[in-house]
Amino acid sequence: MKTIEHWIAGKSTPGSSDRTAPVFNPATGAQQAEVVLGSVTDVESAITAAKDAYVEWSQTSISKRTKVLFAFRELVNARADEIAELITDEHGKVLSDALGEVQRGLEVVEFACGIPSLLKGDYSDQVSTDVDTFSFREPLGVVAGITPFNFPAMVPMWMFPVAIACGNTFVLKPSERDPSASIRIAELWQEAGLPDGVFNVVHGDKLAVDTILDSPDVAAVSFVGSTPIARYIHERGTASGKRVQALGGAKNHAIILPDADVDFAADHLAAAAFGSAGERCMAISAAVAVGSAADRIVEAVNQRARAVKVGSGRDSSSEMGPVVTREAQQRIVGLIDTGETQGASITVDGRGYEVPGHEDGFFVGPTVIDHVTTDMDVYREEIFGPVISVVRVDDVDEAIALINANPYGNGTAIFTSSGESARRFQRGVHVGMIGINVPVPVPMAFYSFGGWKDSLFGDKHVHGPEGVGFYTRAKVVTARWPRASHASDASFHFPTSK
Ligand code: NAD
Repeated sequence: MKTIEHWIAGKSTPGSSDRTAPVFNPATGAQQAEVVLGSVTDVESAITAAKDAYVEWSQTSISKRTKVLFAFRELVNARADEIAELITDEHGKVLSDALGEVQRGLEVVEFACGIPSLLKGDYSDQVSTDVDTFSFREPLGVVAGITPFNFPAMVPMWMFPVAIACGNTFVLKPSERDPSASIRIAELWQEAGLPDGVFNVVHGDKLAVDTILDSPDVAAVSFVGSTPIARYIHERGTASGKRVQALGGAKNHAIILPDADVDFAADHLAAAAFGSAGERCMAISAAVAVGSAADRIVEAVNQRARAVKVGSGRDSSSEMGPVVTREAQQRIVGLIDTGETQGASITVDGRGYEVPGHEDGFFVGPTVIDHVTTDMDVYREEIFGPVISVVRVDDVDEAIALINANPYGNGTAIFTSSGESARRFQRGVHVGMIGINVPVPVPMAFYSFGGWKDSLFGDKHVHGPEGVGFYTRAKVVTARWPRASHASDASFHFPTSK
């Protein structure tokens, strides 16, 4: 059985713990590897490696740092297929989708290649007689990323390219369910010329996470995962004096107005609900059908749901793969059961779905649940599976109010041909990322990504300008070079401009 090790100070190491976790191939249901679960000592060695490397890396010129980023970009691009295969084999998503996630991660690397411009400060000449003021930003030190299973390459890449470009060193604690992509990425960093210790990967569970959160040597933590853990990370990390951004779970709604193109909306809703088996934080899991749109959209989405090709992610004809674990499969099926017992109608039922030749795989078929109300479990819970719930409302204002009453605020979308309705929606919803006839509105790398309410704890969104702000802090210098011939103008009153 293959063992997946940590990557500390530029080397693969098993660490000191004898605890491991199984890594499955979700398409077959078989365990294919084990991953070591780091001890306190293992995590501390990764932090120490990053702390030692910080001394030189933080002083390395911006142009040298940028060269490493460009080299890394080329290597990830050249190895994208290989990284995608690692993702598919451990996560289950289809290869084209895995490749798409590597591509979206690469866009953040490309953004970070622009760090010379992004770190430019301001300069004001002669703010007072013979006095100038200028500002610049410095890295924080050792920063950590704790990431979820659903994007094992892209979500870490939301964080470390920007952090490292800014001059920080990094400790990544990836998901223990699909840990291989992060190790391949660490090897590529080394090949790109990144000094050992600048990027480290330590595997583990709560023990590893708590060690990071409590370490006085870690200056900041970026987290992406479920809401209860995000809240915990934010509370514990800030209590120990760290800067924390903790992105949580989601329940993303799409409004379908009667003036929408129903076929267009149904195609996009099905892709947004069932792509990656619904295991995306930006998946659409609630369709809010307004007035006469309801019967038409349910019928059209039902047709698409029945036509989805479900199979192994390695099979190029598959559009949707399995979910990540047996527990996830059982939890999703259990939630569909509650929809039925609580009075909704299951119009397409993915329970008991079998893929020939993959009978032990963790499959759930596309599922459509109609006549869902906001008190039902399928509406209140983040299902994180290929399930779309349809809630019927009378008008756009009721739809907006429903979205705003939900505790999550990650993404949302509207399908309409009315600019007036779209504008009312974009201004009225309490949500961080908004799509207008775009169901999965993930911002490009040069904008920042983040939700509102229970979908984000902390102030700063990831990557883009807010990412640069998160991984740096500002200095403002007020400087004077007095001429020997000038009389001193020192005074005891508060300094004012002269
Ligand atoms: P998770 O919260 O279970 O795990 C995330 C990370 O936290 C993992 O590294 C895990 O090892 C660690 N962790 C788990 N339990 C912990 C505990 N008790 N104490 C400390 N650390 C712990 O999330 P997941 O199941 O891997 O990922 C799915 C979730 O992530 C969904 O809720 C999804 O919406 C969310 N997500 C959000 C975004 C976003 O941008 N908002 C993006 C991707 C995923």
